[in-house]
Amino acid sequence: MSLKIMILGANGFIGSALTSAILRDRDWEVYGIDLSDNKLGSLPKNDRFHFVEGDITINKEWVEYHVKKCDVVVPLVAIANPAQYVTHPLRVFELDFEANLSIVRHCVKYGKRLIFPSTSEIYGMSPDAVLDEETSPLVYGPIEKQRWIYAASKQLLDRVIYAYGVRDNLDYTLFRPFNFIGPNLDNVEEPKEGSSRVFTQFLSNVLYRRPIKLVDGGRQKRSFTYIDDAIECLLTILENANSRASRRIFNIGNPANCVSIRDLAERTIRIAQEFPVLRESALATHIVEVTAGEYYGKYYQDIQMRVPAIAAAERDLGWRPSTDMDTAIRRTIEFYVKQENFSARAAALAGG
Ligand code: UDP
Repeated sequence: MSLKIMILGANGFIGSALTSAILRDRDWEVYGIDLSDNKLGSLPKNDRFHFVEGDITINKEWVEYHVKKCDVVVPLVAIANPAQYVTHPLRVFELDFEANLSIVRHCVKYGKRLIFPSTSEIYGMSPDAVLDEETSPLVYGPIEKQRWIYAASKQLLDRVIYAYGVRDNLDYTLFRPFNFIGPNLDNVEEPKEGSSRVFTQFLSNVLYRRPIKLVDGGRQKRSFTYIDDAIECLLTILENANSRASRRIFNIGNPANCVSIRDLAERTIRIAQEFPVLRESALATHIVEVTAGEYYGKYYQDIQMRVPAIAAAERDLGWRPSTDMDTAIRRTIEFYVKQENFSARAAALAGG
């Protein structure tokens, strides 16, 4: 029997990639909801895709009805951008925690399988060099550092989901994304700083010929994971009902792509030069250093190192990421360059 999957946030970065992979490579049905459908527009028409434009905090009846109707629920609606944790902490709490808690409870009530995004941010400033799903301590800064409201919200949801698993047998899988990058990550044409995560921010800086700003020198490291690798892992989790993925937590990340933010900036500038429409801009892009306080304000605190242990996913899901850093950057830039608006803007800025 074909799986019925509900994807909340089907138009998001992960949601749109997951939706299109399912429709392309599997015979499952997808019931999606999102505020808009701009990232889904290029999908070929498919009878297995049922989409409604809506807001999960308003269209509550639609949401509950579809949790009841589907086999698996994948709630991907969340704010996941550190600049917003410090500017809109309560919005992060209301959406990422409160709105999602109600969906978790529907899954408990109707006995549905839940595939839920935890986060690599949950480890915070953990002292472990490699972050393990089951043993690493989760370490956050003081309350004044509002950045941690996202990690704390996600941590509490992980604990709530775990407890529903113990008490009510909720069938869940928690997955922890490590800096996914790829097509549709953020809107690169949005020149406002802080509207994107780091890689798309850098690409936007190249596009607009604005200096790339390295927060505190860019020595902090992240493990960048190409979206196609991540989606392959999610498909495997979706396939493994009631077995190796049930009531488990998996890091989804690429430890081989652990690079400093400075290194990321240099690679972005170098690889952008391969694309004629960006070449001049990339050659003109400078790198400057700023303090975290200047860039994010006083409510921010950084994480210096973030490397995933992926033994659990390798052993139990047979998954391993294969896209190296430069390929991930190149494919992502290629996607943006192919967008008509992006190229038109790049050409206009190059000419002006
Ligand atoms: N960062 C930076 N310059 C920017 C944007 C981000 O140096 O223009 C740094 C930021 O301080 C952090 C890292 O890049 O250390 C990754 O930031 P991102 O927003 O992608 O999220 P995070 O990995 O911290 O969740």
